[in-house]
Amino acid sequence: MFFNLQEEEKKMWQDNIRKVTPYTPGEQPKDKDVIKLNTNESPYPPSPMVQEVVRSVENNRNRLYPDPEAAVLTDAIAKYYNVDSNQVFVGVGSDDVIGMSFLTFFNSEKPILFPDITYSFYDVWADLFKIKYEMKPLNEKFEIVKEDYLVENGGIIFPNPNAPTAVEMQLDDIEYIIKNNRDSVVIIDEAYADFGDVSVLGLVNKYENLLVVRTYSKSRALAGMRIGYAIGSKTLISALKAVKFSYNSYTMNYVSICAGAAAINDDKYFKEIVSKVINTREKAKDTLKKLGFFFTDSKTNFLFATHKSVPAEEIFEELKKRKIYVRYFNKPRINNYLRITIGTDEEMEKLYEALKEIV
Ligand code: PMP
Repeated sequence: MFFNLQEEEKKMWQDNIRKVTPYTPGEQPKDKDVIKLNTNESPYPPSPMVQEVVRSVENNRNRLYPDPEAAVLTDAIAKYYNVDSNQVFVGVGSDDVIGMSFLTFFNSEKPILFPDITYSFYDVWADLFKIKYEMKPLNEKFEIVKEDYLVENGGIIFPNPNAPTAVEMQLDDIEYIIKNNRDSVVIIDEAYADFGDVSVLGLVNKYENLLVVRTYSKSRALAGMRIGYAIGSKTLISALKAVKFSYNSYTMNYVSICAGAAAINDDKYFKEIVSKVINTREKAKDTLKKLGFFFTDSKTNFLFATHKSVPAEEIFEELKKRKIYVRYFNKPRINNYLRITIGTDEEMEKLYEALKEIV
């Protein structure tokens, strides 16, 4: 295709290629024997109601396009959280909802703000969409410093609890950031909030500039279905919908829409699996402490841990040899930490046995 181009023209074409920071996802090993504690999925299966709905999807229904507004799912989510249906926006995983929010709200000349240690997709989206950003360092306890978010900005995003630090910010402190940034959209990514004590969902009718993003991938055990959503003021949600439809992509498939509605309607099962994960997490804190680990006070489904004497990278490699996968980030300041997803009690027992050999 570029056969006849002169050297100079070829170079121009190459210069136009968008250069982005690649996102490195956690490994998804094919080997079924692996104990997978590396990507914060639920160790439990989705609600049995999901299985039932997926099985009963009439094959011929998939011949037709899905409802682009995914009303069945949007309405179920709205009912669950007691908000209006036009305060809910759904998408193909929360990564997609976050990307759509970046496109919709973060396009000013001013940089957007997020912590320097946080979910590593934010800078990927910002680079991809050519959005300027400034990262605000966490304090020595890995906490977000609210005063850092009072400077002029083109928007703010952070997860609560934060990832991979697992540290939760208190409601008053988040509200302080939201109310002092009324000219910006503030996105709180609550991917892990079901495992913690704080949610800003109760503030969506108080602050028009607040958007809460959530996912089915962790607490609702449906990472494979790719379901995410945002809840916010009608103004923010209608803006998101307008961008989505003008891009005409990222529409959820029919099976995921049905599965998502079934999962949110089975609250009993949801509460059961979330509380099992929390119990296992608290037991894990005791056991890992005895093995010489230090960690932040996790309010998530993972622990962010460092060992008093053995380097994190070595523990990561040794665990991998024993077919136990955890996450290691070779990044400044956190390169001696591991992120360990909470598994079932049986999986965690195997982790402790392996760690006893390593540390
Ligand atoms: N936000 C945070 C903080 C996450 O850790 C993740 C999962 N990697 C996501 C968003 C995206 O989740 P999903 O796209 O599966 O909904």
